[in-house]
Amino acid sequence: MERFDVAIVGASIAGCMAARCYAEHPLRIAVLEKKPAIESYKVLCTHFIQPVALPVLRRYKLDRILEDHGAVATKAAFHTEAGWINPAGPYSNDPAQAHAYNIDRQTLDPLLRAQLLDHPAVALRFDSPVRCVAVQDDGRYIVHYGDEAAPRSIDAALLVAADGRQSTVAKLVGNQENRYDNERAVYYAYFDGIEPPVDNRSLFFLAHAEMAFVYPLSAGRTLLCVAIAKERAKRWRSDGNLAARILEFYEQFPDVPALSRARCTSRVFGYADYPNISREPVWKNIAFIGDAALSLDAMAGVGCGFAMVAAEMLVDSTAASLGANGHLALALEAYRKRFAEVFAPHARAIMGDSLMPRSATELIRAQELFAHMSRDSELQDKFISLTGRLISPQKFQLAYLSALSKSPRPRA
Ligand SMILES: Cc1cc2nc3c(=O)[nH]c(=O)nc-3n(C[C@H](O)[C@H](O)[C@H](O)COP(=O)(O)OP(=O)(O)OC[C@H]3O[C@@H](n4cnc5c(N)ncnc54)[C@H](O)[C@@H]3O)c2cc1C
Repeated sequence: MERFDVAIVGASIAGCMAARCYAEHPLRIAVLEKKPAIESYKVLCTHFIQPVALPVLRRYKLDRILEDHGAVATKAAFHTEAGWINPAGPYSNDPAQAHAYNIDRQTLDPLLRAQLLDHPAVALRFDSPVRCVAVQDDGRYIVHYGDEAAPRSIDAALLVAADGRQSTVAKLVGNQENRYDNERAVYYAYFDGIEPPVDNRSLFFLAHAEMAFVYPLSAGRTLLCVAIAKERAKRWRSDGNLAARILEFYEQFPDVPALSRARCTSRVFGYADYPNISREPVWKNIAFIGDAALSLDAMAGVGCGFAMVAAEMLVDSTAASLGANGHLALALEAYRKRFAEVFAPHARAIMGDSLMPRSATELIRAQELFAHMSRDSELQDKFISLTGRLISPQKFQLAYLSALSKSPRPRA
C-alpha cells in the first residue's frame, strides 16, 4: 500500500493550503478530493477573503498569483444609521495586513489546486471520495477512497479532515458537530453595469438587523448580497424574482452605487437556513481544518480566510513532528490550543451576531456604538480591524470602553 506522511481529505481552500504548506517540508502528501476535476469549485460562497489571511497568502507567494488572475484588493466600509465607517487608507500600514480580496471561487479553487499539481511531494487525486478510515496499532491511518466497486487505500501518519461543513471524516470517526442558530437568510447574485465603489471598497449597508453588501469583482462585475430576516426571505421566495427583490432592497440606503443600469448575469444563490457549526479541531489524533472544524455565518465572511489560517497553523504545529522521532500527539495538542485561542473569541462573537436583536435595548446599544464610532476615528479603525479579524473582539471592546470613559458625560 502507498505510504504518505499526511493524507488530506478535501482539495478546496483548507486542504490545498495545508498541502501547499506541508510541501515546504520533506514530507509526502496525499490530497483526496471527491469532485471530478481541477476546475470544480464551491458554488455557494461570496468569496470575500479577510485580511487576516493575507500573511499566509504572502508567505507562499499566492497573493501575486491571485492578483494576476483578477483578485481585487479591497477593504470593508460600513454604512450605519449614524453614517459611514470608512477610515482612509489600508486596513493596516503593515503590507502583510493591508487589504482583503474579492476573487470568485471559480478562479480561486482551481488556482489553489494548480499549485499542487506538479509538485513532486504531492499526490493530488480527483474523483476520490473518502469512504472509510481505520486506525492501525502503530497509530497510522488507512484511508479507503474512490469507487465503491473498486476502492483504493493509502496509509498515512497524519489524517487531516479538510472536507467542509458536512465533513464525512467527522461522521466516520464520531467528531460530533455543535450547532448554533443563525437567524438570517442570505441571497446573492452577480451583476454588471454597476460602477465600482471608490478605492474598490467593499460596501456593507446596515439596516437595523439586516445587511446588504456590494463587492467589486474583476471585469466590471459586482456581487450584490443581502443577509435578511428569515420572514422577509420567505416572502421573497413566495413573491418570486429574487434578483429584483435584491435590487429593491438597496433602495432604502443612501450612497449606494447607481443600480439603474445593473443587469443580473447569474442565477440567485443563497440559503434559507445556515446554522453555525463547530467541531473539535483535533479528534482521535485526526486534525480538522476549515469548515470541517468551524463553519460560521456567511454574513461574517470569515470562512475562506479562517480556512487558510487554520491550515497554516496546523502545518506550523505539526510538520516537524512527522519525522521518525516526532511527537505527533503533542504537536496536535499545540494546534488544538492555538486554534481555540485564535478562533474561539471570533466564533463566539459571530454566533452572537447571527441572532436577531431580542429587544429594543439591544438595538439601541448597537445604535449607540455606531453613533459613538462616527465621532471617533481611532475606534473606526479598530472596528474595521475587527471585521477583518486582525484584532480580537475583546481588543475592540476594550477600545470601546476606553473611548466611552473618555467621552464627555451627558449633563443630568
Ligand atoms: C452563501 C455563502 C457565502 C459565503 N461567503 C463567504 C465569504 O464571503 N468569505 C468567506 O471567507 N467565506 C464565505 N463563506 C464560507 C466559505 O465558503 C467556507 O468557509 C470555505 O469554503 C471553507 O473552505 P474549506 O476548504 O474548509 O471547505 P470547502 O470549501 O467546503 O471544501 C471541502 C472540500 O472537501 C471535498 N470533500 C467533501 N467530502 C469529501 C470526501 N468524502 N472525500 C473527498 N473530498 C471530500 C469537497 O468536494 C470540497 O472540495 C460563505 C459560505 C456560504 C454558504
